[in-house]
Amino acid sequence: MGRETLLTVLLLLLGGLAVQPFALMPRRQCPGEAPQIAERRAWLQLWLPIVPALLVAAWLCGWALQESDPVHDRADPGMLVAACLPFALIALRAALRAAWAILRQPAELPICSTGLWRPHILFSPFLARALDEGQIRAAWEHEQAHVRHRDPLRIWLAQMATDLQWPWPWARERLDTWLEILECARDDEARSRGASGIDLAAAVVTTARLASSPLGPQAPRWLSPVDAPLLGDARSLQTRVARLLAPLPDSDGAHGWLRHGDTAVAALLAAMAGIAAASGAAYGEWIVHLLLEWTWAI
Ligand SMILES: [Zn+2]
Repeated sequence: MGRETLLTVLLLLLGGLAVQPFALMPRRQCPGEAPQIAERRAWLQLWLPIVPALLVAAWLCGWALQESDPVHDRADPGMLVAACLPFALIALRAALRAAWAILRQPAELPICSTGLWRPHILFSPFLARALDEGQIRAAWEHEQAHVRHRDPLRIWLAQMATDLQWPWPWARERLDTWLEILECARDDEARSRGASGIDLAAAVVTTARLASSPLGPQAPRWLSPVDAPLLGDARSLQTRVARLLAPLPDSDGAHGWLRHGDTAVAALLAAMAGIAAASGAAYGEWIVHLLLEWTWAI
């Protein structure tokens, strides 16, 4: 069998097997955290089930680098293809949904950030006419925070990570939690840059009213894969407005945590991937050989 073909089949099979048990992980809650830290923690929880599959991929790449082409080990191609087929379908579904999210028309939201590579803000004239100057500035600051963090791209990637954990509902739950916390984090960032909480609350309520009006733009969908809206989840509107009307919580310590936390996570992941690739290059041959022999044995 060709090395690249076998590598693809093993990536789907072993990667899929690595994701599925971790997709069952329950969501951990840490009440009382600053939204910026809670958002980053929820983001990591979203990706944690994918990490074992990434390490398996690094391990297999290490194996492929020292493997001859074609691979001379005995293998039952029919058995291998049948075993990886369910995971191939999950990956195909995730890829199609990701492609659809890029190719479809932008959602008609009263205000949102859109664009994967060059995020920008779309502001409906219907909404602008319904808001005063302070409210427009508050809504704009909220969306600017989405743009600064490239949230449309992050939402698109998060949706893809969730789709790779299909069909488990816990993955969707982790995505919903992250999206909810994301709105709170962007509200706080907008307020820390001078936007009034009262103005932002008024803008959010007006957006919700306009979006549900039969004369207004199309009602926003909670999950809009490439758009980061002002409104977010309308179901949590009451809680969000209450937060915006309360004093802005102190989040001075969050910035240092985020800066150092991101670097530490990236360094740890890179080190783990390097170790996995080296291990694949050193021990991959006989482990893959055993696996291929096993396809004949059953
Ligand atoms: Zn938002």
